[in-house]
Amino acid sequence: MNSKYEIVIGLEVHVQLTTASKIFCGCPIRFGAPPNSQTCPVCLGLPGALPVLNRQAVQMAIIAGLATGCEIAGRSVFARKNYFYPDLPKGYQISQYELPVCRQGELAIVTEAGGKTIGITRIHMEEDAGKLLHTEAEGGRYSQVDLNRACTPLLEIVSEPDLRSSDEAVAYLKKLHQIVVYLGVCDGNLEEGSFRCDANVSLRPWGQKELGTRSEIKNVNSFRFVKQAIDYEVERQAELLDEGGKVTQETRLFDPTAGTTRSMRGKEEAHDYRYFPDPDLVPLVISRQWVEEVRATLPELPQAKVERFITELGLPLYDAEVLAAERQIADYFEACVAAGGQPKACSNWVMGEVIRGLNAEAIDIAACPVTPPRLAGMLQRIDDGTISGKIAKTVFDEMWRSGQGADAIIEAKGLRQVTDTGAIEPIIDAIIAANPAQVEEYRSGKEKVFGFFVGQVMKASKGKANPAAVNELLLKKLKA
Ligand code: ADP
Ligand code: MG
Ligand code: ZN
Repeated sequence: MNSKYEIVIGLEVHVQLTTASKIFCGCPIRFGAPPNSQTCPVCLGLPGALPVLNRQAVQMAIIAGLATGCEIAGRSVFARKNYFYPDLPKGYQISQYELPVCRQGELAIVTEAGGKTIGITRIHMEEDAGKLLHTEAEGGRYSQVDLNRACTPLLEIVSEPDLRSSDEAVAYLKKLHQIVVYLGVCDGNLEEGSFRCDANVSLRPWGQKELGTRSEIKNVNSFRFVKQAIDYEVERQAELLDEGGKVTQETRLFDPTAGTTRSMRGKEEAHDYRYFPDPDLVPLVISRQWVEEVRATLPELPQAKVERFITELGLPLYDAEVLAAERQIADYFEACVAAGGQPKACSNWVMGEVIRGLNAEAIDIAACPVTPPRLAGMLQRIDDGTISGKIAKTVFDEMWRSGQGADAIIEAKGLRQVTDTGAIEPIIDAIIAANPAQVEEYRSGKEKVFGFFVGQVMKASKGKANPAAVNELLLKKLKA
């Protein structure tokens, strides 16, 4: 932390929506498709082509707005943001300006410094621009334009300048990321740019009311880079101010290899864009009824799930947070409980073997070979003493490999736990007979060797002997 200055950060996050088609035309959205293959006169910006608003995109804006406590505007307006860039053939981007679709929301975050609520100024809808490809192919240096991404629906979520450290900024971003992915409005893919942020950073002397001059770091698409970029920027501005210099309001780029930011261009002011209502689009009217219909379908959000897992299912906070972090994992866990598993046992297995297996094979939980009823069925067999917890790992692995249920595997492989003393006794007798030295030690008071005997018996029974029965019988025989 800087001792002389207070750090002030506001974030603008671009969230790419998961609609089937683009925001103002019917073209599909496919990352990595051959350049310009997903285009039409509208997204190519050809003269005379007219935009038509995608209802699903509006619905997703409402969903995101409600989930972040925003007011949903009954009437909002699309505006043209005019600027020239080769990836923007129309010469303007359709965005929202004075009347965005959502305003005045908030997001609760937790950092080591404690809990805090960050204001969300507004959420507006806009179209993405195309992409420039700079190549040196065929002996020349070319810049080529790919307009597949043009007209992709985005939400821009703008925070209040409420964040006070790079840690808070990262916590805010992670929380927002988790929510939009939970809601299904964004695929959350950072590498593909589906979730990217501009970080506005300024410093002010402690106690000063007015905000300092900010710089804006553009388009950072990793949580780690956001932290690095902000930390670097804070240092840079502090040095400038220390030397009696001034921060210039400008747009900067983060260079991940160098870990630094560099000036890209002077910061435009809103009036430079000559915003005006787009005459091709009527104002967007959202009825209260539509908002209420959407509200009724909102999924339970991670925070609410964490609380419910603790209060209703009795899970520890740690388990609840791990399980609730991803919606599909949470659903899987709940399906296990619904199928009759003890919540804590289900939690242990999901957080342990299930997640480990998914990671090892890099597969999604939707493709998990062990279904929730199967896992619950196996847990049942631990509960009723058919198998031990140790053998359960073997059964689980086999369920994973073969897709069979626990009972079939237990029978086929003869994994049933042996509680019958008649079967355990001969094993114990043999072990005692084979290890006279250890028996002597035990009888002379070295009770620690008891563990050795348990281990030997379990090994000889291939893990199938019931541990309680083994303990009891061993004690009796060794003491004799
Ligand atoms: P622009 O598009 O010009 O960057 P926006 O209003 O879209 O303007 O976004 C401004 C962002 O910068 C907001 O997140 C806001 O909280 C933040 N911000 C504004 N002033 C400052 C400042 N002095 N220091 C840090 N962040 C700021
Ligand atoms: Mg900005
Ligand atoms: Zn199109």
